[in-house]
Amino acid sequence: MTVRTRVAPSPTGDPHVGTAYIALFNLCFARQQGGSFILRVEDTDQKRSSKDSEQQIFDSLRWLGLEWDEGPDIGGEYGPYRQSERTQIYQRHVQELVRAGHAFHCFATAQELDEMRREQMSRGETPKYDGRGLALAADEVERRIAAGEPHVIRMKVPEEGVCHFEDMLRGPIEIPWSQVDMQVLLKADGMPTYHLANVVDDHLMEISHVIRGEEWINSAPKHQLLYKYFDWEMPQLCHMPLLRNPDKSKLSKRKNPTSINFYRAMGYMPEALINYLGRMGWSMPDEEEKFELDEMIAHFDIGNVHLGGPVFDTEKLDWLNGRWIRENLDEHAFGERVVEWAFNQDKLRQIIPLVQGRVEKFSDLAPMTAYLLSGMPDIDECSFEQGKLDQDISRKVLQYASWRLEDVSEWNTDVLYQALNELAKAMELKLKDMLLPLFIAITGKTSAPPLFDSMVVLGPYLVRARIRNGLEKVGTPSKKQLKKLEKEYRTLDLTVS
Ligand code: GLU
Repeated sequence: MTVRTRVAPSPTGDPHVGTAYIALFNLCFARQQGGSFILRVEDTDQKRSSKDSEQQIFDSLRWLGLEWDEGPDIGGEYGPYRQSERTQIYQRHVQELVRAGHAFHCFATAQELDEMRREQMSRGETPKYDGRGLALAADEVERRIAAGEPHVIRMKVPEEGVCHFEDMLRGPIEIPWSQVDMQVLLKADGMPTYHLANVVDDHLMEISHVIRGEEWINSAPKHQLLYKYFDWEMPQLCHMPLLRNPDKSKLSKRKNPTSINFYRAMGYMPEALINYLGRMGWSMPDEEEKFELDEMIAHFDIGNVHLGGPVFDTEKLDWLNGRWIRENLDEHAFGERVVEWAFNQDKLRQIIPLVQGRVEKFSDLAPMTAYLLSGMPDIDECSFEQGKLDQDISRKVLQYASWRLEDVSEWNTDVLYQALNELAKAMELKLKDMLLPLFIAITGKTSAPPLFDSMVVLGPYLVRARIRNGLEKVGTPSKKQLKKLEKEYRTLDLTVS
């Protein structure tokens, strides 16, 4: 059998370390078996997907040294590799299922479905699609389609019995069919859902092993059923353990930076980050903690992946990165890496306009700009006691600003100014007062070169991480406080920048 694996990220938001982790294990498995590794872009969620995010996935995976054999940017025999370019393929396939009686049309509105779920819950049942579309007569379905009524296509699911499937790491898994919903396959806008597109593509792209995150285990019965309906052979499934925060919760950007761009901006070596991700659930036969990608490929055995939730701990990563810097870079290489990172003309050109009018001698430059070339500023709770603001307001400002900055479309001075100025107005605070806690969190001082320009030089990843760091120092809101803040934030009159 020719081994073909794939990573199938959705281009929504920042490139996630979880994507690199899954890509790494797919690549190692394929390389070690002499097979191919494919990159497929799952961009069927038109509202949330963006070209910019797709490009960032390509750039960050390449930066990490993960190269694919086929993909949207390099082509291949099984293209197109972007799902938005394959809609007709999915439509053709879903019609095949309808004709064979495995899928059906459903005209229920969102409101009707909400009501259905509410009633089920009031009876103490788990909310689930009740099969109402199945009751429609064929001529009624035709009439309603011809009249242009919005509808989706759903798959049929057995009402009784148990679905059995094999996982390469877990062995046999059983999930009762009663727990499986009659999944929507084609949405009202004619786009496929993840489940349909994923199965059709994995088959047409001849994927032999699906290595993906554990969060997809519950989707396996739907996928198995689709393979059966199409009369296709199902690839082997392997669900990797999820990455976790040090407190064992699922890795989330609220608790840990998750963007690959953050680690790049902080000055980690890509080799060290890949090495660290390789240690998530797997270890070298000799337990050596530091290894190169080629060594990992040479010794890789998917059967050795442990299922205990691997903890992504930045302190451990720091330690490993330090080893890489000390053991793998001679002085020349170290210099080159540092130049590539930030000690370069481009960076200097960004910094000069911020400081030239403020220095009296060149030696003022380093202390004045140190915050632009470092990781987290040295601040503590007391740092936020300066100025007129109290801790509660500082906490609120930092929390709101972090949400606000998630929504900005472009990272430039004008957009940042607009976004935060609007927030200050909505919070009924003077801009100057609102910026103070942000100033402290982002620059570590109360006076520094202009904040918005500094935010541009630092880039979104460091800024977000510093705001989160500031929040930790001032006291991260409790779950209850966070809910309250979220509710209040939603009532503020803010436009998307
Ligand atoms: N698009 C899915 C994701 O974002 C892919 C899951 C899979 O590998 O099947 O994780």
